Amino acid sequence: MKIPTQKQLDKAYREAVAVHKKYLARHGVKLPGETTHKATWLAMLMHYHAKDRNHQVHKDEISGAVRRRHPQAGHDQQVRHLKRDGWNVIGSRGSHRLDPYRPSPQFVNEQARKRGRLGADSFEKLKKAFGYSCATCGAAEGKPDVRYGGDDIVLQQGHQNPAKPGDDLNNIIPQCQFCNRSYKSDFTFDNKGRVRAVAAVGPVRRAGKEVQRAIFEWLKGEFS
Ligand SMILES: [Zn+2]
Repeated sequence: MKIPTQKQLDKAYREAVAVHKKYLARHGVKLPGETTHKATWLAMLMHYHAKDRNHQVHKDEISGAVRRRHPQAGHDQQVRHLKRDGWNVIGSRGSHRLDPYRPSPQFVNEQARKRGRLGADSFEKLKKAFGYSCATCGAAEGKPDVRYGGDDIVLQQGHQNPAKPGDDLNNIIPQCQFCNRSYKSDFTFDNKGRVRAVAAVGPVRRAGKEVQRAIFEWLKGEFS
C-alpha cells in the first residue's frame, strides 16, 4: 500500500475545509484542526473519496499516514470516531469511506435528542403517516391558512404529553404552528391529536367559576 504524499493530503484537507463550510458547518459538524491526527484521517478519507467514492480505506493505511506526520502516534487510529464529530464515515471491520456532503445520521439524531426533538428523518416519516397534515386541526403542510391571514402551514413537533421526552417517537404528533402555539403545554393529546386531559393549571384557571367549583368538589373527594 502506498500512502498519498503529504502534499496530496494537504490538498485533500483543504477540500474537506471547503466541503465542511458549504455542507456541514450548519449542522454543527466539527472540523478538526489542521495539525491534529484527525485532520490526517479526514484528509485520507477525502483523498480517496475524490478518486473513487466507493473505495474503502483500511485504518492501517490511515494510521500509516498519521505516523508519518506524528511518529509518536499509535498504530491503531480509531477513524470511526470522526462520526462523533458529525462526519459521515461509512464502513466496517476497519475499512472506511467518507460521504462528505451530509452529516452522519447518528450525529443528526444525537443533536436532535440533545435538543429534545426527533431527528429530521423520523419526523418526516411521522408527518407522512399523518398525511402531511396537523394531527389536531388537519391543516395541510405548506398550504396557506385562511384562519390566520393566509400564513403557510408549518408542521412542528407537538408533544402528546408535555411532561414526557420530546425525542420519543411515541410522544410526538405533527401539529401546525397555530395548534402547537395555542395549546402550549396545557394539554395532553391522544395519538390522533385530540385533546385528552389538562396538563397544567392554566386551563382550569381560565375556566368559569361553575367549572372550577365542580373540579374543586371532585378534587376534595379525591384527595381527602
Ligand atoms: Zn393545527
